[in-house]
Amino acid sequence: MEVFKFGGASVMNAEAVRNMAGIIKNSKDNLLVVVSAMGKITNKLEELTHAYILGEENTTELLDQIKAYHFQILNDLFNDPNHPVFNHIANSFVEIEWLLEEEASDAPDYIYDQIVSIGEMLSTQIVAAYLNENGVAVTWADARNFIKTDNTYREGKVDWDKTNIEIQKHLVPLLQKGIVITQGFIGGTSENFTTTLGREGSDYSAAIFSACLDASALTIWKDVPGVLNADPKWFDQTELIPQLSYHDAVELTYYGATVIHPKTIKPLENKKIPLLVKSFIHPEREGTLINGENCPLPVPSFIFKVNQVLISISSRDFSFIIEENLSHIFSLFHLHKVKVNMMQNSAISFSVIVDHDREQVNNLIADLKALYTVKYNAHLELVTIRYYNDDTISRVTQNKEILLQVKSRYTCQMVMKDKSAIE
Ligand code: ASP
Ligand code: MG
Repeated sequence: MEVFKFGGASVMNAEAVRNMAGIIKNSKDNLLVVVSAMGKITNKLEELTHAYILGEENTTELLDQIKAYHFQILNDLFNDPNHPVFNHIANSFVEIEWLLEEEASDAPDYIYDQIVSIGEMLSTQIVAAYLNENGVAVTWADARNFIKTDNTYREGKVDWDKTNIEIQKHLVPLLQKGIVITQGFIGGTSENFTTTLGREGSDYSAAIFSACLDASALTIWKDVPGVLNADPKWFDQTELIPQLSYHDAVELTYYGATVIHPKTIKPLENKKIPLLVKSFIHPEREGTLINGENCPLPVPSFIFKVNQVLISISSRDFSFIIEENLSHIFSLFHLHKVKVNMMQNSAISFSVIVDHDREQVNNLIADLKALYTVKYNAHLELVTIRYYNDDTISRVTQNKEILLQVKSRYTCQMVMKDKSAIE
């Protein structure tokens, strides 16, 4: 029993869906396929949610774009305009229309999950129908019945016991019959409300399914050849890492490597399930194998994060920033859901680097200011080098002013500002 995960790029248009179908066709039976929303639809659904909550005018326009995108793919994939999938998808959209007609009176995070989760419902219905139509018999399954979470909307915490029970009871029998298609990213509460697991959470879903099913392997199909030592978005020359330990994979994703979701590794490591990261463009190539073997990284790895803000928090009366203040400071970060990318402390000040998510960061700073002196510096870059050396450090710091640097044995993190931006 194996698990495959296909992300948005692997189902972004009809051609991609056909390619994905080819990969599924060539694999063995008893496969669970976890699929994300198509292309960049989750971003669009986020926009729609935002507009709806703020009562803006353009909700119909946004929904029409989302509809048009899916119907274009449907028209490209199915010759018969009377195929039942057209009706299924149209009905899903009617449900959103009903929802949008009502006033947005529920909590924003709850509304977010009810709307944004639709991307995965649409993609999996289309993919399942296409496979069934083209000689690959599959069953469509609703992930909300299996991935059981609490009601922390937008970041559902998985109830592993319940999830495991549901999977054993209801998913295992389905898989005994053949291939099952389900959604990533989404879960259900005990009252059957939809939750999401956090952006890009489909990898995590696939890992949860793999762990509960004791899968022999999880393959994440990507538009890159595997795990590279740097994001090709920032680096011209990148190298494929053929094999990686769970430990290095956790470190890389923790520091922001976006190739796999940071929460993916733990459930796999716990069950010693190998993770393959492979190209859906070249499925015959090996890609990257991540497992429990202690395999040192062949090259230093770079992780870039842009749009960072450095927040410096200091006491007003020259008193030390010690455990007591720190625990208060951290509780505010937790409250505002601001994640710390790097931190450093001195006697009377504490510096933190976070993603510049304006609303959250502004609210956090406002709360911090009640007790501390707070300064911040925006438009920064954070670079993390795993297995750094002097050479790699000088490579990335050219024309940069380093504001903060933290080094441990294997990892060096630097917060930098573009010199051209300073002058
Ligand atoms: N569709 C969701 C997102 O884009 C989940 C995922 O792709 O993993 O965040
Ligand atoms: Mg996605």
